[in-house]
Amino acid sequence: MSLVEITSRIRAAEEKNGRISGSVSLIAVSKVQPNERVLSVLNLGHRVFGENYVQEAADKWPDWRTAFSGVSVHMLGPLQTNKARQAVELFDAIHSVDRPKLAKTLARLAQERGACPELFLQVNTGAEPQKAGILPSDADGFIAECRSMDLPITGLMCIPPVDEEPSLHFALLAKIAERNGVDGLSMGMSDDFEKAIAFGATHVRVGSAIFGARDYSAR
Ligand SMILES: *Cc1c(COP(=O)(O)O)cnc(C)c1O
Repeated sequence: MSLVEITSRIRAAEEKNGRISGSVSLIAVSKVQPNERVLSVLNLGHRVFGENYVQEAADKWPDWRTAFSGVSVHMLGPLQTNKARQAVELFDAIHSVDRPKLAKTLARLAQERGACPELFLQVNTGAEPQKAGILPSDADGFIAECRSMDLPITGLMCIPPVDEEPSLHFALLAKIAERNGVDGLSMGMSDDFEKAIAFGATHVRVGSAIFGARDYSAR
């Protein structure tokens, strides 16, 4: 358990890169973690969490939102259109908006509810066939399309290919955001969040470095 260590490394990276202290938000990625590990991080006062699966989040977070005030839960995993309604009810932010069909559904739900979670558009910076996200060459058009639907675009998100230097991908995402006037950058995980901060990350998504390794067999 090292929330304190990760937080202090984030503060150090902010300082080193001339960023305002506290300007990088830490999303503690609690997917697949045993409840007692998540509870101990809640008890330390941390309030921003990330999940990948709608059903898992629905099982865990409504109770914890009642027990702890100020909780914010971010959806990080691929989102099926038929789960969009449940997702907008459960999450404060969705980082995986990756296609026009999903954007249209979210826009309709936002109209209907008069509210919308914060949205991050996922860019497949490595153009990997198995990975979600809009291709870099389609990103400007997709951002414009989402804006034309009045969707609130908080930022862009990427997951770099595992076997490549992440800095190139962080730089690419930052460039796409800058030329489109998008402020938020959701990038950086346990192994590379300090690099991401150097490239302008506003939200880092850190799981195993806080909670320990995930045991998928226990699900
Ligand atoms: C699981 C996950 C993370 C956290 O990964 P760690 O390597 O455990 O820090 C971050 N972002 C996304 C999109 C994830 O799916």
